[in-house]
Amino acid sequence: MRTSDQKGVLLYAFTCGHITLPMSFFLDGESGKAKVPACVFLIDHPKGLVLFDTGFSDRFVGMEKGLGKIVDMPEGGCVADRLEEIGVDPAKIDYVVNSHLHIDHAGGNHLLPNATIIVQAAEWDFGFSGEDTAYDKVDFDLGQPLNRINGEHDLFGDGSLIIFPTAGHTPGHQSMRVQTATGEAVLAADCCNMRRSLDEMHLPDHCYNMDQYRGSLEKLSQLRRAGAQIFYGHDPDFWASVPQSENLDLTTI
Ligand SMILES: [Zn+2]
Repeated sequence: MRTSDQKGVLLYAFTCGHITLPMSFFLDGESGKAKVPACVFLIDHPKGLVLFDTGFSDRFVGMEKGLGKIVDMPEGGCVADRLEEIGVDPAKIDYVVNSHLHIDHAGGNHLLPNATIIVQAAEWDFGFSGEDTAYDKVDFDLGQPLNRINGEHDLFGDGSLIIFPTAGHTPGHQSMRVQTATGEAVLAADCCNMRRSLDEMHLPDHCYNMDQYRGSLEKLSQLRRAGAQIFYGHDPDFWASVPQSENLDLTTI
């Protein structure tokens, strides 16, 4: 997939399912519902292939009852299919960085047989606690190689992929900074649902810890002021402006 004229770190975006939830889940006080994408990123680094989140599981394809009423996962829409569309073998993925382990972020982990999973230790433990119904152990209790991290982590030791904690949505939520040839991307995931979350410092109606959530939004705000392109976690309008399945040019988003 990498052509001879493409150098450095390449970044690709994919949608791996949608979920329909009350808008207040994303922005407190808002009415109505929102159908939002599960956002997945592939980072092609000279030292390895990395996924940031894996979207919904293919177990939702054709499901009409229970969660199937709110989760929309079309045939051919899971992370393995998305990778194969651009000529990447899912077995070649070296690392999966899960922002957190909710069903819309870790559902495709089982499709990456040779990946090492990188999760904050606090997230891993909370996922097994049974305290939050948005987790399903079937997505992540797979016996895959696991790197439990605590705090910031420079994945390849060259500053190009920096994982950093953004707790609040869950105890061990994390985000990632990606230095590409066209600028810095911040893959926020659920510490910043919408562009409005940051513009208005607008919190969701519930989360694990509101003070931590506010602190994580502050971190993102600083990065945005410094020129980074934030990839908001579940913003349908923003996501519509992000080209899918091609190396992103951040200057055009
Ligand atoms: Zn979540």
